[in-house]
Amino acid sequence: MEAFNAACNEIAETCLQQQSGSKFNIQKLVYHDIRKKYGLSAQLAIRAIAKTCEAYKINKNTKPTFKKHGSITYDQRILTFKGLPLQKPQVSITTLEGRKLFNIEIREYFAGRTERINGQVDLIYKKGEFYLYATCDMPEDTPISPDDCLGVDLGVKQIAVDSSGETFSNNKVEDCRVKTLKLRSKLQSVGTKSSKKKLKKISGKEARFRTDVNHCVSKHLVEKAKDTNCSIVLEDLTNINKRTTVRKKQRAERLSWAFYQLKQFIIYKAKLKGVPVVLIDPRNTSRTCNSCGHVDKKNRKNQAEFVCEKCGHKDNADFNAAKNIRNLGLHQLAYSRPLSDCSKVA
Ligand SMILES: [Zn+2]
Repeated sequence: MEAFNAACNEIAETCLQQQSGSKFNIQKLVYHDIRKKYGLSAQLAIRAIAKTCEAYKINKNTKPTFKKHGSITYDQRILTFKGLPLQKPQVSITTLEGRKLFNIEIREYFAGRTERINGQVDLIYKKGEFYLYATCDMPEDTPISPDDCLGVDLGVKQIAVDSSGETFSNNKVEDCRVKTLKLRSKLQSVGTKSSKKKLKKISGKEARFRTDVNHCVSKHLVEKAKDTNCSIVLEDLTNINKRTTVRKKQRAERLSWAFYQLKQFIIYKAKLKGVPVVLIDPRNTSRTCNSCGHVDKKNRKNQAEFVCEKCGHKDNADFNAAKNIRNLGLHQLAYSRPLSDCSKVA
């Protein structure tokens, strides 16, 4: 691993000199030297060139640097699993001294999936131990044929509110966030080496916690949609940057990684369960009255409260939005089906 990353650092110099991230060009220039100097096998040398070129292409003005124990991506030519899934699981891996067999331990949740390991595997070194990160193909359930929609409004104060009125509150996450925020600003003001270390640690902790929450919420929503034979409807926020109708604060919220992650989790879990996901235009979902359809900025009194200027309908603002999202989903469903199926469209 150390030889591999040292080789990457040397290849990076060539990328910068040549102003090139082309694997083909760089390979012609460095391949033989790298193999000789670092003792890498042919395939490992090619992986090192690929890793460096990909990193260089992100920003062509700087030379990428590689940590001593940075990850290595292996493919089937240089890494194979043996004895899967039940017997003594082992991995055969190309090292500086040729192929070597190592015993491995397989995580419980992964045990039933080893036959579906697909393509590349990352070798990672963390706190004195080596890990292999493999991706695998998952079977997908037969798609359901939905007869209703579950609208989901994603947010920051409330992680998610669905059109049946269920709310996934952010209180716990928010508490954790505020606490770490306070601790963080304290550590930042100290600015010593150990406080920097602590800072790094808590940022990881917060992220893991939020990821857990996102797994739970997405799983629950997808199961609920499947049980009630619904499509899941989400706002399509891919063009959110270009929209002026979304307020600045809201935009920042919607661009946060946690928000994006939850949406991705819902989409992939829905796919596995055969639940269709419908993406709708997010314009006006939060300012349209779900009762009379009146659209007005003033309908939204504050973050939590919705009061229609026209008909006086009062609602929780996120719940109102979730119901609008559901309606838009039902309309899309209606256009993709024969009319007899559309009795539920409002
Ligand atoms: Zn109204």
